[in-house]
Amino acid sequence: MRWIDLRSDTVTRPTEAMRHAMAEAVVGDDVYEEDPTVRRLEERTADLLEKEAGLFVASGTMGNLTALLTHAHRGDEIIVGHLAHTFLYEVGGSAGLGGIHAAVCQNDSEGTIPLETIADAIRDPLDVHAPITRVICLENTHNRCGGVVLSPAYVAAVARLARHKDIAVHLDGARLFNASRALGMPPTRWSEAADSVMVCLSKGLGAPVGSVLCGTREFVRAARRVRKMLGGGMRQVGILAAAGLYALDHHIERLDEDHANARLLAEGIAAIPSLSSPQAQPSPTSWTNLVYVAIDPDAVRHGAPDAALLSARLRERGVLASPIGKTGRELRMVTHLDVTTADVEQALIALRSAVEGT
Ligand SMILES: *Cc1c(COP(=O)(O)O)cnc(C)c1O
Repeated sequence: MRWIDLRSDTVTRPTEAMRHAMAEAVVGDDVYEEDPTVRRLEERTADLLEKEAGLFVASGTMGNLTALLTHAHRGDEIIVGHLAHTFLYEVGGSAGLGGIHAAVCQNDSEGTIPLETIADAIRDPLDVHAPITRVICLENTHNRCGGVVLSPAYVAAVARLARHKDIAVHLDGARLFNASRALGMPPTRWSEAADSVMVCLSKGLGAPVGSVLCGTREFVRAARRVRKMLGGGMRQVGILAAAGLYALDHHIERLDEDHANARLLAEGIAAIPSLSSPQAQPSPTSWTNLVYVAIDPDAVRHGAPDAALLSARLRERGVLASPIGKTGRELRMVTHLDVTTADVEQALIALRSAVEGT
């Protein structure tokens, strides 16, 4: 049986053509900076984001951590949203490994932190009692806020605030290319305002492994040492970088299909009694490939399945979706390279039947 796997866009498997590109990759020892395929990927990504240099890392988590450890040191502070991936899902790495303190600010539903909140959180560098604010972290698209796109104007406004105080802006752009396709704007519209940007090749772009961290040449030189310290100096890793290059060449424009499928899915969900989806509502900017399913609490009190039961029933029907959060009333469904429009239609039939228990 073939699963319709909507748990995440990380579940894609490399296509035949991508595997072919990997097999053909010219490689060398990348710790010696002698892997031509890795160098090409780093330059290509940096060019796309109009940054001076890039660094290939094993994961988005390693990319964000490497950035934070490069910008900030023990006892320094970062400003991060309470729904940020970096705060929720990266094992507290910047504190655990870097001794970096976090000022956690409330995200609003648009994935932003209000500018006044950020301004309030910035410490007075002359106050002997306070840690020094070094970095403001933003995320685009914002995963836990429904895959919403941050507006370029917002990112620019945060950067103006930061620059004025000599604070870096780090952009977790795990799905920056989704944002770019959704608004029909180049990724530079967001990257130009950030000092460092991390993009994932292993999410919607469909590569098996890898992220690229970009910034100034000086930043990337320092980040390269940090990556080595984290055990992330890899050797003939051009085999993986080749998959990333293939993804940048062939899998960016097709993100539009994922967005169209996600819209179809969200609208279908909204038409099922007791279910709703924020992604079926208008967004301030745009939604992308993440669809959240909200189960009406009243319906659950009257016997409708909660998130755990609903996902179990979906599994029996060949569809995988992730329960999210602690309320027991939220599921996440993600469209990607291995999900067709027919799969979405099939998933909606399964969802309806799972709700009704038929
Ligand atoms: C997935 C993700 C990451 C981390 O990437 P991994 O490769 O899974 O470590 C970081 N930020 C966001 C927003 C993500 O969705």
